Amino acid sequence: MVKHIFITGGVVSSLGKGLTSAAIGMILERRGLKVSMQKLDPYINVDPGTMSPFQHGEVYVLDDGSETDLDLGHYERYTHAKLSRSSNYTTGKIYSEVIARERRGDYLGSTVQVIPHITDAIKDAIAAGVTPESDVALTEIGGTVGDIESLPFVEAIRQFALERPQGDVLFVHLTLLPYLRASGELKTKPTQQSVGKLREIGIQPDVLICRTEQPMTPEMARKISLFCNVRPEAVIEERDVDFSIYQVPQMLVQAGLDRIIARHLGLPSDLETDLGDWNRMLDSMRRTTDTVEIAVVGKYIELHDAYKSIYESLSHAGIKNQTRVKIRKVRAEDYQAKGASLIEGVDGLLVPGGFGERGVEGKIRAIQHARETGLPFFGICLGMQCATIEFARNVLGLAGAHTAEFSGDTPHPVIHLMADQRNLHEKGGTMRLGSFACRIRPGTLAQRLYGAEVVHERHRHRYEFNNAYRAAFEQAGMAISGVNPDRDLVEILELASHPFFLGVQFHPEFKSRPLAPQPIFDGFVAAARERARKRARVAADGPGASPTQEGGPGSAGSESPASPISLVRPGACVT
Ligand code: GLN
Repeated sequence: MVKHIFITGGVVSSLGKGLTSAAIGMILERRGLKVSMQKLDPYINVDPGTMSPFQHGEVYVLDDGSETDLDLGHYERYTHAKLSRSSNYTTGKIYSEVIARERRGDYLGSTVQVIPHITDAIKDAIAAGVTPESDVALTEIGGTVGDIESLPFVEAIRQFALERPQGDVLFVHLTLLPYLRASGELKTKPTQQSVGKLREIGIQPDVLICRTEQPMTPEMARKISLFCNVRPEAVIEERDVDFSIYQVPQMLVQAGLDRIIARHLGLPSDLETDLGDWNRMLDSMRRTTDTVEIAVVGKYIELHDAYKSIYESLSHAGIKNQTRVKIRKVRAEDYQAKGASLIEGVDGLLVPGGFGERGVEGKIRAIQHARETGLPFFGICLGMQCATIEFARNVLGLAGAHTAEFSGDTPHPVIHLMADQRNLHEKGGTMRLGSFACRIRPGTLAQRLYGAEVVHERHRHRYEFNNAYRAAFEQAGMAISGVNPDRDLVEILELASHPFFLGVQFHPEFKSRPLAPQPIFDGFVAAARERARKRARVAADGPGASPTQEGGPGSAGSESPASPISLVRPGACVT
């Protein structure tokens, strides 16, 4: 029978609970076990699809088209768990199911209540999240213990454990040991109080993972053990990583968490946790000296979580290319105002997906600059749509060309609403969502990158390339290199005359893994590295030489100083 691990969080939010849950899943897999992963979120939205990235960060899309919490991205990047619609439940989704049942009359006259009806529905959701043949099912509870809205979930996992044989369920609680600089010490009181909250509900954590910026002394571990009633060896330190978030699984294994879990759940305890390739990856990252700088010109640039999977994918490509990837985050609106000086000196431009018109003209100008100067360009979803608009306006001479999303009366709707989107009234869950096939045209960059005839990538959009303009684009040198075979929708376009200029309607960032980067990200970072190397050679050869057509139209030299850069080492995207 499958064993269950529940992961709760205490003291504060943003402790990296998703990452820690994913790392626990990973170390169990590396012991030869099969895991399933699930997140329960206490908010009332049915899914995060209707939330602004500023509220929630990125919406992570699964193969089956469900729009989920970004922690599921960690689960997929760290483990092989099969994720689906049942891998993420919210309060809203649970309540909608219970209310739908009530309307059908399924409760046969009872008063429908939080206990038992909502908690029963949560327990059913936990059971639904277990994939066939899993040895261990991990369920992360969003929010912080003590919040009003997470109470039904915490109550439901208490009941769940009570209904299982002893030793089948493990409770992990993630807490913070704040460091008080003035007194130079770590404090355990918030952890004690947070565990107190859990015990009030009837949950005794079996493992405490303590996030800390300073080392936890053995005396502190003993004190926490005593006050929280957790065995001393199960009080685990998870210190801030000095180098990369990919160190977390290593750290948990070093602390013995793999063996503690195995012992508690009665799993085979003589197995080795094999992190060999992972450790080699970290070693190679430490040895990396090459650096490329990629400008990301987007709307939600202030919030790292809004483009989380994109930054992660760039890191993965960096690992493969033995290159550190620095990200220069540029607000599209700033680009609109200040121009190309903001991306001067970068080795590549990435324009991510998005919604809403703000900053769109800035994105279009940045893409024009990349096209005209040979700067490697990668456009994702709205980024690809902006590349289409730029090409239509500036190469095909179609003045006023636009997407119907932002200009209902454009004379040239080069991006238009998909036919099946025209009569939709509901916003939630109604985009073109999930995995679709894409047939790759032979002899193209896309084909060289993927090395396959048909690929599958995940989508989340309402608008698409308008096929009425296809021939004009092709004739002018913009190749349609990927098409959905079922509906003849343009999925990839690219400029053959450019070192690397490629736009995709889908979201390839959802399929990249640290040890298996997504091929387009891989190729993009390789092209950026090539450009950086050329630039270095030219610099060594003295001034006057130019690696590319830098300085061409659109590279407005000295409008303003470049925006501050942030160094993202491979895999170092802090959560
Ligand atoms: N807003 C665009 C559309 O709906 C692009 C969406 C996206 O970038 N994810 O088609």
